Amino acid sequence: MRYISTRGASPPVGFVDAFLAGLAPDGGLYIPEVWPQFTTAEIAALAGKPYAHVACEVLSRFIGDEIPRPALMDMCVEAYATFNHPAVVPLVQITPDGFIAELFHGPSLAFKDVAMQILARLSDHVLSARGRTQTILCATSGDTGGAAVEAFRGRANTRIVAMFPDGRISEVQRRFMTTATDDNVRCLAVAGTFDDCQAILKEALADTDLQQAVGLSAVNSINFARIVAQAVYYFTTAVALGAPLRPIAFCVPSGNFGDGFAGYVAKQMGLPISTIVIATNSNDILARALNTGVYARGQVAATQSPAMDIQSASNFERLYFECAGRDGVRTGQAFRDFAQGSVIEIPPESLRLMAETFVGVAVSEADTSATLLRTLAETGEIICPHTAVAVAALNRRGPQADPVIVLATAHPAKFPEAVEAATGLIPTAPPRGQAVARLPERFQAIAASSEAIKAFVREFAGVPA
Ligand SMILES: *Cc1c(COP(=O)(O)O)cnc(C)c1O
Repeated sequence: MRYISTRGASPPVGFVDAFLAGLAPDGGLYIPEVWPQFTTAEIAALAGKPYAHVACEVLSRFIGDEIPRPALMDMCVEAYATFNHPAVVPLVQITPDGFIAELFHGPSLAFKDVAMQILARLSDHVLSARGRTQTILCATSGDTGGAAVEAFRGRANTRIVAMFPDGRISEVQRRFMTTATDDNVRCLAVAGTFDDCQAILKEALADTDLQQAVGLSAVNSINFARIVAQAVYYFTTAVALGAPLRPIAFCVPSGNFGDGFAGYVAKQMGLPISTIVIATNSNDILARALNTGVYARGQVAATQSPAMDIQSASNFERLYFECAGRDGVRTGQAFRDFAQGSVIEIPPESLRLMAETFVGVAVSEADTSATLLRTLAETGEIICPHTAVAVAALNRRGPQADPVIVLATAHPAKFPEAVEAATGLIPTAPPRGQAVARLPERFQAIAASSEAIKAFVREFAGVPA
């Protein structure tokens, strides 16, 4: 399996190189040259299989012979044994034809664990094979940092530095990073915003001296391996509800469009997905793009669903490329223009192709709170505010022809303030969440300065300037 860049100006590479690089050298995102296919019989045969086995089946189609299958299977079994539920991603019914897929039974109680746990093991494997080490620098607005620290803590060939904006993430989110005592983990409370952290990350990644010296890498959802790992639960949940014999719809709370694009990948592989509803909060760049054909950045507003407070959805470039006839020149032009002018006019034919799968729905804060309360009253389920955005989008659409699966992206106990404000109840954290509440924290305050942070990374990696 070979990977090409959405901007068409980088040479194709294999899975391991695409995985280690993250971004392609021409600034584009890697995507497979052709979509691997499952036959109807192969999809039907996934029914009832353990989650780790389905993961191995899906991942192996993208990895090919670059990692031996028995080794891949061992990694999948180990990764999903860290989850607190034997189904890994269980389904709960909330309406006659509506279900939620609970993606939050992993170590940091958010869906980011599903991809990060297998990513850490893939990294270990390929770094050992190449005799290399790496330093992951991570900028987090909440859940990615905790999932990355949980997945990479204690690993011999990886150091991880998690930067978070001081005072701007929830205490529970912070504690999933700062209570890790492992030697390979450092947490930095940056005196700035998430945007400052992200700008520092970009600057560090662009510093080729630093990159070479410490093996710098990133773990955001531009990495295609993360998307593939997320395609797996589209298969397990759809098959549980009768696919491939009947089509299934999905409803996905979206920010960076990683999860939404993973559904597109599952569909390209042959899974009969009729519709994917892209539910956003008031940061609605994706919903507006799908409804009007204009992809335009707005001001970021703080909401109850902070993991979706994003106004530039990195993975949208992959969908654009797909729906622009895989024309890398056109895609590169559009997204370079977007970086300059913050607007892309999607050509009508591309928009028509997007609409064959995707529907965009934006949900207000009031609707989100009302949906949290209504879901509790009607079903007894306490959901997180991100999940509530998607359930609200579903309610807005009314009854549909096919069963719908809503992706529940975080445990409600990760957002106790929003849940309490909407329902009057304080959600109980599972044992892991309770444990981090009691452990001592370790982090260092640092200026929002790329020089200071780059110096910190060098020292941590034992590479003097
Ligand atoms: C990251 C995150 C999202 C958004 O996922 P994308 O793949 O960026 O669209 C939604 N909900 C929660 C809880 C998250 O952590």
